[in-house]
Amino acid sequence: LLIRVAVPVPALDPLTYAVPDECDPPPLGARVIVPLGARLVTGIVVEPIPDAPARGQIRRIDRVLDDRPFVPAEVVQLARWTAEYYAAGVGDTIPMLLPPMARGSRADAHKTIRVAAITPAGLEALAAVGGSVPTPRQREALELLAGSASGLAIRTLAARGISVDAVLRLARQGLVSVRHDRIDRDPFSGAAGGAAGAGGAPTIELATRQLTEEQAAAIERLRAIAATGAFRVALLHGVTGSGKTEIYLRLAAMARDGGRRALVLVPEISLTPAVAGQFRQAFAARVAIQHSGLSDGERHDQWQRIRRGDVDVVVGTRSAVFAPLERVGLIVVDEEHDPSYKQDEIPRYNGRDVAIVRGRRAGALVVLGSATPSMETYYNAMAGRYERVVLERRVFDRPLPAVTIVDMREEYAEAGPEVVLSRRLRAAVTRRLDEGEQALVLLNRRGFSTSVFCRQCAETLDCPNCSVSLVVHGEGAARRARCHYCNYATRLPLACPLCGGPFLEASGLGTQRLEAEVKKAWPGARVGRLDRDAIRRRGALAELLSRFRDGKIDVLVGTQMIAKGHDFPRVTLVGVISADVGLGLADFRASERTFQLLTQVAGRAGRGAQPGEALIQTLYPDHYSIRLACDQNYRAFYAREVKFREAMRYPPAVALVNVVVRASTFAGALDAASDLVQRLRRMTAPGPGTRVLGPAPAPIGRLRGEYRAQLLIKGNSRRRMREALQAALGERPDLQRRVVVDVDPISVL
Ligand code: ADP
Ligand code: ZN
Repeated sequence: LLIRVAVPVPALDPLTYAVPDECDPPPLGARVIVPLGARLVTGIVVEPIPDAPARGQIRRIDRVLDDRPFVPAEVVQLARWTAEYYAAGVGDTIPMLLPPMARGSRADAHKTIRVAAITPAGLEALAAVGGSVPTPRQREALELLAGSASGLAIRTLAARGISVDAVLRLARQGLVSVRHDRIDRDPFSGAAGGAAGAGGAPTIELATRQLTEEQAAAIERLRAIAATGAFRVALLHGVTGSGKTEIYLRLAAMARDGGRRALVLVPEISLTPAVAGQFRQAFAARVAIQHSGLSDGERHDQWQRIRRGDVDVVVGTRSAVFAPLERVGLIVVDEEHDPSYKQDEIPRYNGRDVAIVRGRRAGALVVLGSATPSMETYYNAMAGRYERVVLERRVFDRPLPAVTIVDMREEYAEAGPEVVLSRRLRAAVTRRLDEGEQALVLLNRRGFSTSVFCRQCAETLDCPNCSVSLVVHGEGAARRARCHYCNYATRLPLACPLCGGPFLEASGLGTQRLEAEVKKAWPGARVGRLDRDAIRRRGALAELLSRFRDGKIDVLVGTQMIAKGHDFPRVTLVGVISADVGLGLADFRASERTFQLLTQVAGRAGRGAQPGEALIQTLYPDHYSIRLACDQNYRAFYAREVKFREAMRYPPAVALVNVVVRASTFAGALDAASDLVQRLRRMTAPGPGTRVLGPAPAPIGRLRGEYRAQLLIKGNSRRRMREALQAALGERPDLQRRVVVDVDPISVL
């Protein structure tokens, strides 16, 4: 018998192995140990195929680890689909399928505790007059155990002065039994941010909370769709603060009542403790979470709980779309527009899109929730492929924040070009501080200064490995220039490396400098900063968020991280410094990203009883993405943006594949890209309407020491585009390892 096995090797398709006759054939999804070169590796059976004439030397599997599917068959199929669609090898998807530590036979290793329980013989001994129990200590132990039906942990007994030895002696006499109980490491214990403890009181709020009229209508429609039991995608387009989470909760409860399970994806668990916590409150221990912030042990335990069918709901980030959940009836993708659903390494999948495919195969309702849907999703909704369910108002009819644009050209003219905080923003922050309210200030750029240049020769300080400028981090003696792409770091030189001039000037503003400016402007205020640098230490993020929530921080400064999904009721002011940071990027999504970021961050204001306002500082007050974010007019933005995408033939109007070729020289990269372009153009496979653009130097022309050239394929059939590309690469096997293929890229930088 032959089987096809996915092995954890990059870019590799399934390999064929023989199953020895004495072995029972392993089912789809089982783990097998197979030889690969000189090593043994753990793979997953992806296709049990019938006896076929063996071609060449087929190796035998070494060992079968499971007699039942370890990974559910439907998840194996989903992984195969993902590998194919995103032009990766099935081997690349294995890390997403297997929990940590499942690569060997210790897969079922769990943390266990020893529990002692009294046996019938023990009960008899205890009851016997005159007693056959040798010592008073042992008698005491038996009495304790007699009072506990399920037994007591040996640890607990030790705490009561009964030694482990004493318990084991009783066990040898047959008076007590000792068993190993599995304990699941609980990622919720100790988690800040309102998560209830394990086994907390179930379903308190779910049953009692009064829905708003809009919520009730939305649920009614979604319930009707779900009731058909067939696959359907619905866009839940609800303004910020309209109460989308409540809808997810109710839908998940309905799925559970119908005997099915729910998968809830969020962009970043650590940034949305509210969602995970609320599910935990409503479903108590029947919730598992899956994300990369968990320890390996926690991840493993959560995975096993899902696999055993111990949970009704899985809440997780992108990779949780591969959770081993069966009978899925509902998939929620919260903040579906969020770029973090796209994995930026191989396989470059989009968790939202894989979720839709999973939903189709499971016959599930897929709910895509957002206040600012991606262009793709709205396009599909407009075309009638997705249902569209709308929440136009915030809960309790709270007003959306009043958004005002501050034209920084005027500000510079009057107050000089050094201004960071406009007069208007200063006045607003002062007012909020006086009222005891909170403010968020967004600047979507990390570091202190974003570039360094020589005032004598205008040379800038660039990364030696990448074609980007170095960013200054820290102040005074701690000052360092760092590359945000390759992590190169250096002390700032005293003189210009090119002309020796002594006047090096740092310019451009990052969050660290903003934090310093805010502290200077309001010496009495408690100021916090949230960006990737501030949360490197494990637990730092949760700590920062809970301090803000508890009112121990007045002004929180940060990057886009402060915009995501938070619900801080005491925030009444949001300030945006340099709304145009992302607009200069040579990326077709620049306007979409800017619109989403501004609308989302403004939406953090006024979610509680006090109405909120947002002030947006910009040099481009007339840019449509800024103007329409200010009006919070999604539909107008979409109408405008979709025209641009259609005219320029960009997604969602066409499918796009980005191909980057790396080489040690600029000419080498460009030549190779040019060769691929020519091969593609000669082929008929891409079909009508397909166009190949390029080659061109990539916008970041050099990265980690390698030069990069780029070509774009635009067309209507991803399959044909992919096949053409694979054929072209087939003719140039020497390029295989130097080419990065990105299907449905989220950015083309
Ligand atoms: P969204 O995700 O749509 O921005 P959330 O789900 O975070 O909004 O809800 C915003 C706030 O409104 C939360 O504090 C939530 O607890 C509250 N909320 C939601 N629905 C209701 C309701 N029916 N009654 C009272 N409060 C609600
Ligand atoms: Zn670099």
